Amino acid sequence: MKHDPAIILKPGRTLRLKDFDPAYTGAYKDKKDAKEKLAGDIEKMAALQDKFYAQNRSALLILFQAMDAAGKDSTIKHVMSGVNPQGCQVFSFKQPSALELNHDFLWRTTQCLPQRGMIGIFNRSYYEDVLVTRVHPELLLKQNLPGITEGKDVPGSFWENRFSQINNFEKMVSENGTRVLKFFLHVSRHEQKKRFLERIVNPEKNWKITLADVEERAFWGRYEKAYEHALTKTSTAAAPWYIIPADNKWFMRTAVGDIIVRTLKELKPAYPALTGEKSAELGRIKRRLARGR
Ligand code: ATP
Ligand code: MG
Repeated sequence: MKHDPAIILKPGRTLRLKDFDPAYTGAYKDKKDAKEKLAGDIEKMAALQDKFYAQNRSALLILFQAMDAAGKDSTIKHVMSGVNPQGCQVFSFKQPSALELNHDFLWRTTQCLPQRGMIGIFNRSYYEDVLVTRVHPELLLKQNLPGITEGKDVPGSFWENRFSQINNFEKMVSENGTRVLKFFLHVSRHEQKKRFLERIVNPEKNWKITLADVEERAFWGRYEKAYEHALTKTSTAAAPWYIIPADNKWFMRTAVGDIIVRTLKELKPAYPALTGEKSAELGRIKRRLARGR
């Protein structure tokens, strides 16, 4: 079975979020059916990762972008629950520091790219620099960019340039052995409100909500436009976007797990082949151990 066509954003296609239903649940009979599929994928992921790490040839970068409360954190927690922590690193990108603002927008994330054999997870990413900074251009001014001293100085070509810089960057890392998987967790405005209310009612979730989160809802339409433009321009053959319906967490997690397993399989991880030299070394080790010391 190929990737669900309801989820992948084919390169060249113009994204209109209203064409993608956040409540879509695919072909699963019910929640239980989807959870079983995810449990199987978590086991497969563990076995694939073991070989991936041993092979030390490719790296896998998985990045998540979404509106608040879409479920980035919980997806990472559930879907990656079977992987060996030794072969996996998670980075969450918040407001940039003064040092980060004094570099180009790809600098801070580039330092966190996974090395060969590793799975790297970006919870938010360099895409924030064509999303939140687009909705709030005053953030962009903090970057001290040449020729940009006021919000009105930012021409459309500025964003087009950043999209091609991102595409070139992703092409470069892909050609050098890092597969880039990009997930947009697509939650509806209505479901976000429900989840915010739940964060108020449930004492264990109180820490997750701030007034700023709720104020950001006023910019929903502008975020949608920014996402539509950015994802349309950066869904490429090397690194297409997956638009994951996020109103049902069980479906979202299962879809993400499925795509990660398929991608790892495509990378054909395998334990390194035993060379004649290694085989002779194993023989020597065995004889030495047999001598009892
Ligand atoms: P949660 O889902 O738990 O709320 P979060 O990822 O939203 O997690 P927060 O600390 O609430 O974490 O918010 C991080 C904030 O940092 C987001 O509002 C995001 O837009 C912002 N941010 C990330 N990267 C940049 C950037 N390059 N420039 C400006 N703001 C950024
Ligand atoms: Mg937040």
